[in-house]
Amino acid sequence: MVTTHNLGFPRIGAKRELKFALEAYWKGQSSLEALKQIGKDLRQHNWALQSGLDLAPVGDFAFYDQVLDMSFTLGNLPPRVQDFHGDPLDNYFRVARGRSAESGEEHAQCCGGVAAGEMTKWFDTNYHYIVPEFTADTKFKLDATRLLEQLAEAKAQNVKAKPVIVGPVTYLAIGKAKDDSNRLALLPQLLQVYTELLEKLAAQGVEWVQIDEPILVTELDADWQHAFNLAYHQLKSSRVKLLVATYFGQLADNQYLAANLPVAGLHVDAINARHEVVSLIGLLPAHKVLSVGVINGRNIWKADLNATLEWLEPVAERLGDRLWLAPSCSLLHVPVDLDSEQKLDSEIKSWLAFATQKLEELSILAIALNQGRAAVKKQLANNQAAVEARRSSQRVNNPVVKAALEKLTPQLGQRQNAYAQRAAKQAALLKLPKYPTTTIGSFPQTADIRHARSEFKAGRLDEARYKIAMEAEIARSVKEQEILGLDVLVHGEAERNDMVEYFGEQLDGYTFSQFGWVQSYGSRCVKPPILFGDISRPKAMTVEWIKYAQSLTSKPMKGMLTGPVTILNWSFVRDDQPRYVSCYQLALAIRQEVLDLESAGISVIQIDEAALREGLPLRKTQWKEYLNWAVESFRITANGVADETQIHTHMCYSEFNDIIQSIADMDADVITIETSRSDMELLDAFNTFEYPNEIGPGVYDIHSPNIPNEAYMVKLMKLAAERVPAERLWVNPDCGLKTRQWAEVLPALTNMVAAAKTLRASV
Ligand code: GLN
Ligand code: ZN
Repeated sequence: MVTTHNLGFPRIGAKRELKFALEAYWKGQSSLEALKQIGKDLRQHNWALQSGLDLAPVGDFAFYDQVLDMSFTLGNLPPRVQDFHGDPLDNYFRVARGRSAESGEEHAQCCGGVAAGEMTKWFDTNYHYIVPEFTADTKFKLDATRLLEQLAEAKAQNVKAKPVIVGPVTYLAIGKAKDDSNRLALLPQLLQVYTELLEKLAAQGVEWVQIDEPILVTELDADWQHAFNLAYHQLKSSRVKLLVATYFGQLADNQYLAANLPVAGLHVDAINARHEVVSLIGLLPAHKVLSVGVINGRNIWKADLNATLEWLEPVAERLGDRLWLAPSCSLLHVPVDLDSEQKLDSEIKSWLAFATQKLEELSILAIALNQGRAAVKKQLANNQAAVEARRSSQRVNNPVVKAALEKLTPQLGQRQNAYAQRAAKQAALLKLPKYPTTTIGSFPQTADIRHARSEFKAGRLDEARYKIAMEAEIARSVKEQEILGLDVLVHGEAERNDMVEYFGEQLDGYTFSQFGWVQSYGSRCVKPPILFGDISRPKAMTVEWIKYAQSLTSKPMKGMLTGPVTILNWSFVRDDQPRYVSCYQLALAIRQEVLDLESAGISVIQIDEAALREGLPLRKTQWKEYLNWAVESFRITANGVADETQIHTHMCYSEFNDIIQSIADMDADVITIETSRSDMELLDAFNTFEYPNEIGPGVYDIHSPNIPNEAYMVKLMKLAAERVPAERLWVNPDCGLKTRQWAEVLPALTNMVAAAKTLRASV
């Protein structure tokens, strides 16, 4: 008999109940008790949904982040919050979100303000965790309260509970040593706390504990490999059985290590590394359980259950009772329940599975293995019908798009001339001063704008009136920019809800869910558009707005687009073709938009690639392949224009050291990046590499409400000029201004323009 289990369930709630509860509490509109009760209700509800499984996860619920939960369990609180007097959950939120000492909140006076913990991406997902902080002096101390409480709740509900914790090696690996000390030196002490924790769980009658070690799917040097052996040899004596869980990729050369850790079981991601399953069976000692992640925990498609059974049946034959089945990873990364969707096109809906449906798929597979396929004949036939309908649907397959893709040539991504020649022609046309000023695209999304959009979507505002409202906002942005004296203007993106959704809505091959929310961090969720078919552009998407904006000014108006790689990386994508194929399709569609903008007389066009870096694979050995097609997609999009047309790109980060060649290969005339928080040191990459084109290193941090002063920005630009020749520098904020207020934006940009003037006077 195979055993079914789940690695983690989305905790935000089918209707984002947790988000709303958290935000109400943070705003002081509800009590801590009310918040805790909602957490309890959600857990109860989620366990009920998982009651068909042999084992359900406990401890996967977190009020903010499961890694931060682990830090609290291990007593690894940043020193700056250790003296806090209040409820531990409030302290937890202090670490998660930071607090200013001036806030009127309880304990603001006695416990003061604290900086938020740093947040970073959880492996290659769009989920962000709070980075554990270490120093050489870090002391761990067990606090199992949260986990034990949840375990007690689960028991009361008769849940077959499998506690889930982050493993010690991954915990150290994903954290940061604030004093640059060696994190591995903390391992022996850390292991004592894990030992105590496992003992506490054993005392509660727990049989299995899932211990997540996703770091095993990355390249590990000898020290970290050794840490694995050390850690699990020490935890071996525990009375619970450990299931070491790996996910998000292949074990590759860590296969032997993973298979031979002295634990009771191993979970592997059979979506990303199916080919490893058979070799692992060979490597695995005969007493060990192999948990195979057969349902994709990262996408929203129905699995092809019959095809899965084809390869799974022989595996089951070999492993017998030692085979466990699960989703590939925690279902945290998919929306909760497809049944919530009322507006989704029924044909497309029949191809989808969210977390709840994925667990149903899992149980169908288990029944088929345990009792034979005949026992689930009808379910398998339905699944087959859906999978085949999707495969052959005309909505998915567009022969024109497929034909265009066949004809891709390197010429398509090639500018007519090299940067130096283009720059001369652009200078003659645009006549920009030294240190030209611009912004990244969006201006404040005011309450009025959001109101107009929601009225329009609800059908209460007709298209003509919506257009008038948006044009008024554009006119306002243009006027403000003229008064400010900026050199290259933007239209302000009033008409855009989101930089990806806006384009997705206008491209064929995309659809949108109502409740397909996925947690990004804390209470923040994203609703990735669903890329389901071949991509085409029925008509121009931005040209009318930009033309209107240009008609209001004699300054150059920058056309504003989102690039193909970013659209891809922020969507749920197809699993029936490689990512690069979808990316090239997006590239061809946006290329048409670029060319239409150019024909409409727009001579500066920005193509945002905010998420290019995010798409980097987990293993460095796979970077090159990704960067090749990502860069080529950008080139196809951007480089069909004449020399005179100036192409900008924007990226919301500044770590370019390891990808600088690729950034240069994109061959944008201007790149604007985020650097304001690093004193321009991050420009070193561009300096050392002799980056050939123009750069706008963001001179002020748009994430903060602070108004930067002129001297500060002049200082930053001078530091920049030590690294990049002044002739190739632009002056701009480090990202779009849509989350700011006009009252912040105007003085900040006034100072920024003044800084540019000061700089010009000094050269
Ligand atoms: N053009 C977009 C804006 O200004 C860019 C946003 C981003 O890079 N995240 O909002
Ligand atoms: Zn940005």
